Amino acid sequence: MEIGQILSYDELRAFSGFQIQHGMNYSTPKGGHVFLMSMRENAPYEDWISEDGSLVEYEGHNQTKSLCADPERTDQPRRNKSGSLTKNGKFEEEALKFKNHGIGPCKISIFNKVKDGIWTFCGVFSLIDVSYVQAGPRKVFRFKLQLAESNPQTHSVVDLRHDRMIPSEIQAAVFKRDQGRCVKCGSTENLHFDHILPYSKGGSSKKVENIQILCAKHNLSKGNRFV
Ligand SMILES: [Zn+2]
Repeated sequence: MEIGQILSYDELRAFSGFQIQHGMNYSTPKGGHVFLMSMRENAPYEDWISEDGSLVEYEGHNQTKSLCADPERTDQPRRNKSGSLTKNGKFEEEALKFKNHGIGPCKISIFNKVKDGIWTFCGVFSLIDVSYVQAGPRKVFRFKLQLAESNPQTHSVVDLRHDRMIPSEIQAAVFKRDQGRCVKCGSTENLHFDHILPYSKGGSSKKVENIQILCAKHNLSKGNRFV
């Protein structure tokens, strides 16, 4: 898996080894830790990724609706009623272990929502810091993460000259235009967002005209042209 790879819900489930239902996933059966983020207009949380794709700020998650009347005006919980840590609390503990004692950092695979049921891989990130800050009427967790690996299978380090972050709205527009298929062969498997003119050669990540969907086979054959 590489940055820019497009995953259906089934592929995401295969990666993590379970039915992902929530944004924050601590110790999944296969994929370590997983964060799902969304920067779409109506997204419930304030997630942010830097233009070069190397930094993420991820907001913690609210109290569940079954436990409080107005989650959006209630401090995000660190502990459950039973006293056990919530996902916020578990990841906070990991972040503080690293910040205060140099243990870790904990690595989290991050996926960004393109549309319902479609995600792109943003990389494996190190959880390096956390704050618990006032946001309007309540307090929220803000997790800070730094890109560590571009490929979780090989643990290779990213080369940002080639793997430049494509903004969410561009990904969504390209996915719609290309109808979720490889533009060369029409395949719907192992898809990838591809820069037509590579970023390293001055191609833009912000222009719909410069981004296309390719399958793994056609992405690879294209890559060879530039070796
Ligand atoms: Zn293809």
